[in-house]
Amino acid sequence: MGNREDEYDYLFKVVLIGDSGVGKSNLLSRFTRNEFNLESKSTIGVEFATRSIEVDGKTIKAQIWDTAGQERYRAITSAYYRGAVGALLVYDIAKLLTYTNVERWLKELRDHADQNIVIMLVGNKSDLRHLRSVPTEEAKAFAEKEGLSFIETSALDSTNVETAFHNILTEIYRIVSRQQLPDTGANEPPGGKTFTVEPTEPPSGSSSNNCCAR
Ligand code: GDP
Ligand code: MG
Repeated sequence: MGNREDEYDYLFKVVLIGDSGVGKSNLLSRFTRNEFNLESKSTIGVEFATRSIEVDGKTIKAQIWDTAGQERYRAITSAYYRGAVGALLVYDIAKLLTYTNVERWLKELRDHADQNIVIMLVGNKSDLRHLRSVPTEEAKAFAEKEGLSFIETSALDSTNVETAFHNILTEIYRIVSRQQLPDTGANEPPGGKTFTVEPTEPPSGSSSNNCCAR
């Protein structure tokens, strides 16, 4: 029998990246379970968590991957990025170094992820106003220059957490639904379509579909 959890139109893998301690695991738990944890436990735990949202009457199931603390050792494997269509690149607005390191994370994405991955720069801990060390305008300008979307969030007080995930999933959906070939609906698997962005794809400008329903 169909399990409701498995009824979706699209499945998107989204990865969380950024320095240790910026709040990645809490953004994930806030979005998928509405939970927040004050203690900084090194993440032992789930590889990923899922939550479904509706966009344009379609059910989009987000499979959001957390690093499990590997970022501390700069040892994120390429398997982590494989098939990811979105990335939330998180820094802490109260810790300048985590923002400075965004450049390194972008390089990491360029080296390991698909070139068409949708990236959102996320300034987390916006509740720490009195400790802010990264001006909003500076991060916004940087994001624009790099072609990333940008948002500030607080996993602690929930500000913009829904909006951040909703925006990136909608952005991915717009790209993927535009790329879909007219006949791909013919032999969809019952669980819906899983979209990945293939590593080998035609040069940009080609009109062919570079995401891949099977
Ligand atoms: P990760 O290493 O990136 O996964 O970060 P964690 O989610 O483990 O969070 C690291 C620490 O920052 C923990 O003590 C959290 O309670 C805290 N934290 C996470 N998000 C926020 C936030 O939005 N505001 C504040 N003030 N603290 C946060
Ligand atoms: Mg973590």
